[in-house]
Amino acid sequence: MACVSFPYDAPVSQTLFDRASLVTPGGVNSPVRAFRAVGGTPRFMVSGTGPYLTDADNREYVDLVCSWGPMILGHSHPEVIAAVQEAVARGTSFGTPGEGEVALAEEIVARVEPVEQVRLVSSGTEATMSAIRLARGFTGRAKIVKFAGCYHGHVDALLAAAGSGVATFGLPDTPGVTGAQAGDTIVVPYNDLEAVRAVFAAQPGEIACVITEASPGNMGVVPPLDGFNAGLKEICAADGALYISDEVMTGFRTSKAGWFGIDGVRPDLMTFGKVMGGGFPAAAFGGRADVMAHLAPAGPVYQAGTLSGNPVATAAGLAQLRLLDDAAYAKVDAVSAEIRGLVSEALTKEGVAHTVQAASNMFSVFFTDRPVRNYDDAKQQEAFRFTPFFHSMLAQGVYLPPSAFESWFVSTAHDTRAVERIAAALPAAARAASEATA
Ligand code: PLP
Repeated sequence: MACVSFPYDAPVSQTLFDRASLVTPGGVNSPVRAFRAVGGTPRFMVSGTGPYLTDADNREYVDLVCSWGPMILGHSHPEVIAAVQEAVARGTSFGTPGEGEVALAEEIVARVEPVEQVRLVSSGTEATMSAIRLARGFTGRAKIVKFAGCYHGHVDALLAAAGSGVATFGLPDTPGVTGAQAGDTIVVPYNDLEAVRAVFAAQPGEIACVITEASPGNMGVVPPLDGFNAGLKEICAADGALYISDEVMTGFRTSKAGWFGIDGVRPDLMTFGKVMGGGFPAAAFGGRADVMAHLAPAGPVYQAGTLSGNPVATAAGLAQLRLLDDAAYAKVDAVSAEIRGLVSEALTKEGVAHTVQAASNMFSVFFTDRPVRNYDDAKQQEAFRFTPFFHSMLAQGVYLPPSAFESWFVSTAHDTRAVERIAAALPAAARAASEATA
């Protein structure tokens, strides 16, 4: 890694990080937050308003992480906060059914046509884990197919060749996952239909499902090639396997109906999280009614959760989804395009080889001039250039995901002032990237 001097320290964050490291492994509750890929002190945030975050040292940043996707309306949106306050005043958890969860399920079913029934859970990991169990229970088959570089949460069977933090740290398949748990997982290169066909031809009638990110964002943003998702659906249907589209990241972000709203390929099951929780732990899986009917208590496949459909989380999610109309998506898409243009312009000016890839308003910057179509391509980039780029942006008050393998996220709150702050920071960051050495 290049020798990087960090332009300023963050004494209060550092003190908090030291305290955290004594009582929490690595000082964080989710690995990528620790800044290990870029070095330096992780910023401890104390508040967020619109497109800005303020850290414990009282420094303000334009936020291009948006809590890894959920905050599509920006931080502390007044209507979401009001809905939360109203819900919380009525109590925080009842362990019974409640109207809020019905309303949220209705909203999801109304927006995403292939979802005939939906079950609420508390995290994207739970959603994909449950969808896989249901697919196995429904088909009576054990094997599952996933793609290298796709991340579906830290489900044992799905950590093989995963993206996100696993990609960031270059971890091998994780210790703690046994051969039995991972043995039925078949990993295939992304965007390679021939490889999928070969896998099905080698074990006809044995594969329960193919799970894919609807448009991957966990190896950086790598959209499916034309016809890829449709091809997956066709291969699955021909073999009696289920096609599971993981929309935890893309759902209700890339359009009103997520990535399904863009490519129209009808999955058998879908998973959601992030945006649908409005910043609270809420997620879901859903799809064909005949498949969902296999879930307990309607059917034999067990799945449950103490806090599933939590009234505060559902109120936040519902308030956020109801504000996400066509105009909101148009706004997020436009600001994303503007920022992408600015990043590319700055890097081009400094002669830095790069490719900006987008899936609607999600995007990421790869330090290579070649298109990135799969995980191997993503790993070919000059990731060492990202470290000084990241720290230069941070020092100038722009908070990027602390990894070259993550999507950047924007919100309806990213206004002209926020974009101007980004534009002002980019020339120095691009210069730092150009001067980096491996
Ligand atoms: N699936 C995808 C596509 C994701 O991006 C993520 C998280 O980033 C997950 C599943 C897991 O969600 P969670 O972190 O809520 O468990």
